[in-house]
Amino acid sequence: MSKEVKCGNIVIGGGAPVSIQSMTNTDPHDADACISQVKALEEAGCEIVRLTVPDEEAAACFGKVREAADIPLVADIHFDYKMALMAMDMGADKIRINPGNIGGPEKTKLVVDKAKKKGIPIRVGVNSGSLEKDILEKFGGVTDEGLVESALRNVKLLEDMDFGDIVISIKSSDVLMNTKAYRLMSERSDYPLHIGVTEAGTPEMGIVKSAVGLGALLMEGIGDTMRVSLTGDPVREIYAAKKILAAAGVRPMAMELVSCPTCGRTKVDLDSIAGEVETKLMPIAERRVKEGRKPIKVAVMGCVVNGPGEAKGCDFGVACGKGEGLIFINGEPQKKVSEKEITGELIKLAETI
Ligand code: SF4
Repeated sequence: MSKEVKCGNIVIGGGAPVSIQSMTNTDPHDADACISQVKALEEAGCEIVRLTVPDEEAAACFGKVREAADIPLVADIHFDYKMALMAMDMGADKIRINPGNIGGPEKTKLVVDKAKKKGIPIRVGVNSGSLEKDILEKFGGVTDEGLVESALRNVKLLEDMDFGDIVISIKSSDVLMNTKAYRLMSERSDYPLHIGVTEAGTPEMGIVKSAVGLGALLMEGIGDTMRVSLTGDPVREIYAAKKILAAAGVRPMAMELVSCPTCGRTKVDLDSIAGEVETKLMPIAERRVKEGRKPIKVAVMGCVVNGPGEAKGCDFGVACGKGEGLIFINGEPQKKVSEKEITGELIKLAETI
């Protein structure tokens, strides 16, 4: 089992549930935009959010976001150790650095001393683009062995400064290399691992790469916190992460959405309805589970002929007709509503059932 590290109120490693993280893509100088994205991520079920802190203005912005947000925030630091120091003064719950690029051992020591004093963990984040020259030469390019060696070298730098509150990540956009590197790392170290496939791509390709790469690791018990990297709105990363965790059998799904594939009988835009229902009901389901209530299974079906039957076993759902929907609970019809009212009705049921 990996060691336990605390990031704010979230435990990473030591057998704690695999936590879901994401990163804002709003302007790091625009506190309002960052706060609203952090809130949206939190609402979707994100447990840790990372923000980049490239300069002093961004560090001040980080402080404002810290005051407004309820979940742990990680400061992502590159090149300037001073930003790491400032972010920690602004209340960062963890910092992510690559000790190799923040200005040498003396600067790293200043960061480590402050982190130690404040009890803030450090994620040593190595990726395929950050490997040291000598490692690239030794392994003849970017390899899984090279990624692990680079990360362990950076970890040793911190250990030599008597610091052990460490999380490791070693990301590659090559799924196979990524998987091999994390396997190797889990054999060679017991620090908790932040797993992810870097630059995974557009939502469609990114979800497939992350599901394959992270799913394989999770099923082997590797990974203590995870990020699914997708181009675009980070809230989608949270939904994808939850589905991967559920599919890998690591965490229960707060909501299972059953929707039919549609056919010639379908007379509504079921694709849009199912998407909206999933987005709006998922946060409610997350809240239910946090409150100790049971997960929900919801059906969005394309017709009343086969819909309710095919959705057997769902707690509630809708079977659509032309411009309308028949709401049912445990397979029993309740009432008809217009197409526009379907999501609202299902939200009410998700809250009350
Ligand atoms: S539920 Fe109805 S609309 Fe959907 S696939 Fe089955 S028969 Fe077709």
